[in-house]
Amino acid sequence: MARAGVIHKAEFLVTAVKPSQFPASDRPEAAFAGRSNAGKSTLLNALVRRRNLARTSRTPGRTQALNFFDIDGRFYFVDLPGYGYAKVPRAIQARWGPMVEGYLSAGRNLRAVVLILDIRRDPREEEQNLLALLDSRGVPVLPVLTKTDKISRGRRAGRASAIARALGLERPPLLFSGLSGEGLEAVWQALFEALSTEDPPTERTTP
Ligand code: GDP
Repeated sequence: MARAGVIHKAEFLVTAVKPSQFPASDRPEAAFAGRSNAGKSTLLNALVRRRNLARTSRTPGRTQALNFFDIDGRFYFVDLPGYGYAKVPRAIQARWGPMVEGYLSAGRNLRAVVLILDIRRDPREEEQNLLALLDSRGVPVLPVLTKTDKISRGRRAGRASAIARALGLERPPLLFSGLSGEGLEAVWQALFEALSTEDPPTERTTP
């Protein structure tokens, strides 16, 4: 089974606002989208086992851009700009749609978009719009509900189905907690399935 420990090297590559700045599309990639504060950086850092890798995406000038990461020389992870920032001016918020559409039209080897949602929050228009856009491009969506530790075990399944229903999701969302790490393996497994048609790699031991 795919394990988080299989990742040896995750490196920040480049910040881009337009396709000419993207790295060559020479391998499969997965993109990560979510409302600001949903837990996108926390999930990315947990996936690559680096406490601060995704912080790179949060430095000034980078939050409103796409950030590319090299994953073990095999994949790209693309941190899409967060949306729904209360403090970001409207004019800058308005760039989000065209930037993401430009990315989706760039002919990338995009296998999945991980849509990150706080399990406590109801999806809104931005999520609906993004899903409609991905659907129109035939991009598979991997919904992940974060911060599951913030509600009781008993309520999680109910929240998951309410969110799935509200968004008309084809697959049930995966549940993840950045606090306990619960659900990380399942997210990796789904990512590997999306990123590779071959068998997931077996865990290598450190020399
Ligand atoms: P981003 O804006 O989507 O990148 O969100 P962050 O990953 O920066 O998380 C926003 C806030 O929520 C931070 O204070 C995190 O520590 C917290 N957070 C993120 N994920 C979790 C989680 O699974 N459980 C808990 N309890 N807090 C979380």
